[in-house]
Amino acid sequence: MTLELHRLSAGYGGMDVIHDIDLIVRPREIVSLVGANGAGKSTLLKTISGLTATRSGTMTFNGKRIEAAPTATRIHYGIVHVPEGRQIFTGLSVSENLELGAFIHRHHSDEADAQRAEVVIRFPVLRERLPDVAGNLSGGQQQMLAIGRGLMSRPKLLMLDEPSLGLAPRLVTEIFELIVSLRDQGLAILLSEQNAQLSLAIADRGYVIENGRVALTGSGQELLRSRDVADRYLGVGGRIESSSAQRKNEISRRLQDLMRI
Ligand code: ATP
Repeated sequence: MTLELHRLSAGYGGMDVIHDIDLIVRPREIVSLVGANGAGKSTLLKTISGLTATRSGTMTFNGKRIEAAPTATRIHYGIVHVPEGRQIFTGLSVSENLELGAFIHRHHSDEADAQRAEVVIRFPVLRERLPDVAGNLSGGQQQMLAIGRGLMSRPKLLMLDEPSLGLAPRLVTEIFELIVSLRDQGLAILLSEQNAQLSLAIADRGYVIENGRVALTGSGQELLRSRDVADRYLGVGGRIESSSAQRKNEISRRLQDLMRI
């Protein structure tokens, strides 16, 4: 599975928000998108999943052109988008939310059951709460449910938009560990995260998006070491304040924890 974008542009109304994006995601890679609020990262993910129409350029997935394909077709091919803000159905049970993620197996209930069994093994906390209303889960559990729902259709490429938003530090670490383990089990991950430091630390490669364009690309480690990236994204926005040694130590401890996985 390889996703390849060539000079991709998209936007809303009459205006392009992302411009001439060249981007590639290969099998078993974590690719992180870094950029300020409003840079166009969510729009890029929505364009890849088909929620926002491609205006120009091409997109191929496993060699197939997909820029004009409906979202449902892209899900069938293996592209799944876990949107910002989780967007689970809070009035439905955990189990029903998972079932909705399996809609592509709707004619094969055995497949859906098998996949749900796999998902709940991965997220024991969901197994315990299958009959409960999803709105009663904690923020971290709701994020796990959103990712679990995405996994129900057996994706090849999982796109995660701000998965750590609003979570306590311990849960942030858990989410990042989960992302690494999904990659290690064979998924490709495209990750958009305000927490640039952590997202680059776990990334195989990254793209810096500025004003809807790719400003810089490189390995996660290269981007972490880049002065430009440090100045712009690893400051307050990257959740590290250079004046705060204590905060830096906390982040570096979390990173070391992550690297030990
Ligand atoms: P954030 O992390 O804040 O979501 P982002 O990098 O993901 O930032 P986008 O959400 O893609 O950025 O937004 C890029 C630009 O597109 C912004 O100027 C935003 O106001 C605009 N935009 C986003 N969604 C829409 C929409 N549905 N209609 C019109 N403009 C939109």
